Amino acid sequence: MSEFIPQPSCADPEDQNRLSIDTARQRIASLITPLTAWQRCPIRDALDRILLNDIVSPINVPAHNNSAMDGYAIRSGDITNDSFSLKQVGIAFAGQPFQGTVNTGECIRIMTGAVVPSECDTIVMQEQVAVTDNIITIHGKHPKGNHVRYIGEDLKTGDVVLTAGRRIIPADLGLIASLGIAEVNVSRRLRIAFFSTGDELRSIGETLATGQIYDSNRYTLYGMLKRLDVEVLDMGVVPDQKDPLRQTLLQAAEQADVIITSGGVSVGDADYVKEMLAELGQVDFWKIAMRPGRPLAFGTINNALFFGLPGNPVSVMVTFYQFVAPALRKLMGETEPDVTTFQVNCTDAIRKRPGRFEYQRAILFKDDDGTTKVKITGSQGSGILRSMSTANCFILLDEKCDGIAANSLVTVQPFSGLI
Ligand code: AMP
Ligand code: MG
Repeated sequence: MSEFIPQPSCADPEDQNRLSIDTARQRIASLITPLTAWQRCPIRDALDRILLNDIVSPINVPAHNNSAMDGYAIRSGDITNDSFSLKQVGIAFAGQPFQGTVNTGECIRIMTGAVVPSECDTIVMQEQVAVTDNIITIHGKHPKGNHVRYIGEDLKTGDVVLTAGRRIIPADLGLIASLGIAEVNVSRRLRIAFFSTGDELRSIGETLATGQIYDSNRYTLYGMLKRLDVEVLDMGVVPDQKDPLRQTLLQAAEQADVIITSGGVSVGDADYVKEMLAELGQVDFWKIAMRPGRPLAFGTINNALFFGLPGNPVSVMVTFYQFVAPALRKLMGETEPDVTTFQVNCTDAIRKRPGRFEYQRAILFKDDDGTTKVKITGSQGSGILRSMSTANCFILLDEKCDGIAANSLVTVQPFSGLI
């Protein structure tokens, strides 16, 4: 007679095989080698792409000492007491330098951005002078160097302006343009194939029979992937059957760098994703001590990385943000992105049992007293996608946490910093 040995499963809260989120992150990171393929593109097209080489400044910015104000360029040696007069001998506009020499007792009219003549070292604001014909009388204190923007004050020739591995933001486009650089090298776009699994799933436009639901995961995944500026390959809905799953996975592995699926990774009778991954490639792990999103398959099929996300719509988003996005960013060559977290007062009490790391959906808001606080979105079921839509942050509750009293400090992670 065979003895019945209970198998650890996803329904078992005491399951010892589950990984901590940190271990899971490390295991994923250890399997990722950043892409080396790159392309050269005009700077505007480089927005949101990953810079492949350091950008080194070929020039000084600004290239000359120039005025930070509309006023008068003077020689600080001419400054006497609190009131003195100088003869205006010329004028300098931005882009049209004064061509002559400014001698002792002289000054020029100067506009913001205009080159400061080499004999001058100080700018007096026009509001601080009285003008009679071409004689200007200056009052007040004017420290040497006042209102002068110095050569190389922003960037010096040879300075590393942006480092390799950086995701290019709008300010960077301007910065690169200010150096006169027209094109940069960025890593090539990742190709990501994704599909949903589940016999109950229908696509938009179809009518729902009893028990059927519309596939929403392909839409949230599409949105999150688009934010990462990757090429997406939407492979639709695949039923819970081994043959179609096998075929779709093999086709995806041929076409993409990374495959992402949702659903079918748990221990239900129709959950074949993990089995197919084991047959076609390698499974690295599939249970994480977190909530939501415990079953998560990770591995490889031929040269493609594979992420089998859980089916529940909230779990898909949480596991994508916490594991898939950092992995894709590393793969595209981005240096370890800093994900912002900070502590803030939570107005709600939160119930939690120790054992798993929890990502509660929450809203950062300005309270009547003017301070920023956080509150949860309400019901935290992993099928309640509206909680993600209403939320603007996660509250992070670590494994040991056994609940939070109202009005205590919690750690939050704003969505805006996640991708
Ligand atoms: P599974 O992980 O396949 O057991 O799915 C868990 C839950 O998520 C079930 O209630 C599914 O109906 C639901 N689900 C799975 N895939 C999707 C999808 N693509 N869109 C919306 N809900 C889904
Ligand atoms: Mg399913």
